[in-house]
Amino acid sequence: MPTRKKPSSVRVHSAKSSKPTRPSKKVAKRPASKPRTGAPRPKVDPSKMVYYFGAMRTEGGPELKAVLGGKGANLADMTSIRLPVPPGFTITTTTCARYYESGQRLPHGLMNEVQKNVDLLQKETGKVFGSIENPLLVSVRSGAAVSMPGMMDTILNLGLTDQSVEGLAAATGNRRFAFDAYRRLINMFGDVVMGVDHEHFEQAFTRIRHKFSAQQDTDVPEQGIVELCEAYKQVYRTHVGDEFPQNPFKQLELAIESVFKSWNADRALAYRRIANIQGLNGTAVNVQSMVFGNMGDDSGTGVAFTRNPSTGENKFYGEFLINAQGEDVVAGIRTPRPVDEMPRWNRKVHAELLAIKSRLEKHYREMQDIEFTIERGKLYMLQTRTGKRTGAAAVKIACDMVREKLISEREAILRVPAGDLTQLLLPSFDPTAKKLAKVLTRGLPASPGAAVGRPAFTAGEATERARAGEKVILVRKETSPEDVEGMHSAIGILTSTGGMTSHAAVVARGWGKCCVVGAGELHIDPVLGTITVKGRTLGRQDLLSIDGSTGEVIEGSLSTVAPTLSGDFAKLMKWADAYRTIGVRTNADTPADARRARDFGAEGIGLCRTEHMFFEGERIRAMREMILAETREARERALAKLLPFQRDDFVGIFTAMKGLPVTIRLIDPPLHEFLPHSDDAVEEMASTLGVPVEKVRSRVSQLHEANPMLGHRGCRLCVTYPEILDMQVRAIVEASIACLRDKIKAVPEIMIPLVGTRAELAVLRAQVERMIRQVREEQDFSPKLDIKIGTMIEVPRAALTADEIALDADFFSFGTNDLTQMTFGFSRDDINSFLPDYLHRDILAQDPFQTLDQTGVGQLVEMAVRKGRAARPALKLGICGEHGGDPRSVHFCHRAGLDYVSCSPFRVPIARLAAAQAALM
Ligand code: PEP
Ligand code: MG
Repeated sequence: MPTRKKPSSVRVHSAKSSKPTRPSKKVAKRPASKPRTGAPRPKVDPSKMVYYFGAMRTEGGPELKAVLGGKGANLADMTSIRLPVPPGFTITTTTCARYYESGQRLPHGLMNEVQKNVDLLQKETGKVFGSIENPLLVSVRSGAAVSMPGMMDTILNLGLTDQSVEGLAAATGNRRFAFDAYRRLINMFGDVVMGVDHEHFEQAFTRIRHKFSAQQDTDVPEQGIVELCEAYKQVYRTHVGDEFPQNPFKQLELAIESVFKSWNADRALAYRRIANIQGLNGTAVNVQSMVFGNMGDDSGTGVAFTRNPSTGENKFYGEFLINAQGEDVVAGIRTPRPVDEMPRWNRKVHAELLAIKSRLEKHYREMQDIEFTIERGKLYMLQTRTGKRTGAAAVKIACDMVREKLISEREAILRVPAGDLTQLLLPSFDPTAKKLAKVLTRGLPASPGAAVGRPAFTAGEATERARAGEKVILVRKETSPEDVEGMHSAIGILTSTGGMTSHAAVVARGWGKCCVVGAGELHIDPVLGTITVKGRTLGRQDLLSIDGSTGEVIEGSLSTVAPTLSGDFAKLMKWADAYRTIGVRTNADTPADARRARDFGAEGIGLCRTEHMFFEGERIRAMREMILAETREARERALAKLLPFQRDDFVGIFTAMKGLPVTIRLIDPPLHEFLPHSDDAVEEMASTLGVPVEKVRSRVSQLHEANPMLGHRGCRLCVTYPEILDMQVRAIVEASIACLRDKIKAVPEIMIPLVGTRAELAVLRAQVERMIRQVREEQDFSPKLDIKIGTMIEVPRAALTADEIALDADFFSFGTNDLTQMTFGFSRDDINSFLPDYLHRDILAQDPFQTLDQTGVGQLVEMAVRKGRAARPALKLGICGEHGGDPRSVHFCHRAGLDYVSCSPFRVPIARLAAAQAALM
């Protein structure tokens, strides 16, 4: 006989937790910005594969984002509004789709179109591809319609050859620079396009550094760099088996293909899976004439946000590096300087950037994330896109933009990804505990939150240990796109290099994951698995606390405190309430949870799981006594002991809910969940109850079921033991009457779980009604006592026969946890043994216990809504499975026409916002 896991722990946990038990995909797809009013509807010529942007002509714009990708569309748009953008062209995302459709072959005619656009680019720049005098160099970069930071390929300085490198040297008067650009191209092209391991190039560089006694790359003289180009070409020859291509068009063709290929690279697939990005064509390819931030101390490069992406403060926020190429900032290789320090270096460029910030925000009416380069004192814009931000920043920016009259309230509601509100509701470190804490060092506060865990030193290690249930903090020198899986598994990320716009920072912020970067005092040794800081060494078993709001890295585990919510949060919630059309209730079974949920805006309790009231101290003793009882009378005696507890709990909950409806579900889990299983516990129970150990043991084994979730639970228990129902209904009615006599309005609704046939409900409903009448008479209570009696729809048969069941139900509440379990036949408690494989292999797009499976389970919900309302038009409909707090599932519930969703207290604000968004979309 196979052994089964006891499901109770999981169920109790999932019921109480404020968050889903498995990591949620936080990076919600932001609502696409609408085309500006008056803008012509986009006309897309499906045969057109390339769109030019530049002074000669600009063919695309923001309305073509799906075709040009975010980067391509905005480069065209920035060019149109006359921002300084180096000219170039974009190959469409549909071309990428065609590339895959035709078995990974570049579509016929593509390179002819590319040639024509290169001609135009040559005309506009006055430079020529491969020229010995003034060569045209381009960057080749990916860019899908939804941003995927760093996930796909980039090649810079393309167009350099043995000949044109001399041309670049002549044109710039800087031979070292020209050869440095060439060696970067050979390295990047070899690595990215031809798959040569970067390590081989690194070894060649080390040899040259030694030969020229250079400490740093920048110390290698011109001659060394020239020799390095030869060495790199040799590396290329050895590992590719061919010469580095000397024809710029060949280089371009191979680079375009490699960008297309990177769309389906492992890291890009992983990112799309985690971020739940679906339905895109592929990536666009942006070919843009190069500008150089590494031409000397009057050049530089940087990235910035038009507002602070962590807090939302309306202040230009960014970082730059002098004499560097763009990738150096994003990759986190060198720690850059804050943009505030730029005026000391170049006042004019800083002022220009501030003017551009304000133009971009007026134009896009959204916070932007920009990339720029300064070539010999002249500023160029290389990218603008909607900036990723934390939940707190999203709320502040949305509210500020309404105040600044940039956007409407409706737009503000749509701007905040509902799931990101979790971050605002999460605890932070307790300031008193912090005062006593040992702060090891401080990094940059890249993404807020309070994470406590043990260090993991590689992405793979983080994933594995997290899968085994450990809380880990991924500790790295810097992160790279390959690390996304490990970053997602970790509860926090800590790096020793990199700035606020490094890869780790951008990705963590997008997910709302706690992250500290650039903690430069940390010496991380991934081989030994140690972190050394100020003479102190920590290993894999040591606990660390990291504070993503202050950048502090603290030894040990710090306690946390509940958050305080800002005025902007309340404002956004008020707007949301004005627009949403479905109600939001909560799942709560204690007065404290009920109060918290009310504070978060719950309009009632949609599910009070009464069995949770039987787990503690004296209650579990009485419960066990009831289970062990051999006669109805003995059971009733034990239940009588439970009655006062249950009644008092209901009084507490009704009082906390102040007249809002409270849906109370009668007992649901199989009885064996209340019994002990280990020998020690069995003995203890026997001695507490004063019964022989053998008796307990035999009852435990008697209650054992092969499939407890499909066994003696839910309404089936009350069919067998009607006295349980009697006690629970008595507690509800007595508590209501006690409240009403105390002038506290109590509005209970009685819910019967796990019904599959009308007869089950009819029998139990009649008993509930009898009991209500009996208690009223006993209590001599004549005023109106209107208690609705309804059922959960969580067995597929109940959905299929909803028209019959509705005849005996005042309301339905969809128990989508069980409905999902029974529709898929996936055990809700054991799915994690195979779910990762299902997600990884795209068999499932998401965890169906987190996001409602609309095509399958959703059909049952829709059918039950239709049949139920047809039979009983006044039927009230809600959902109380965990899906009630998941934004996408809330959208579904809105469309399905439910009256309310019910979710755990901490998800109430999320559901309110998601419901408003559903109503506005
Ligand atoms: C459900 O099945 O969706 C539900 C809410 O009940 P429980 O999770 O307690 O089984
Ligand atoms: Mg259930």
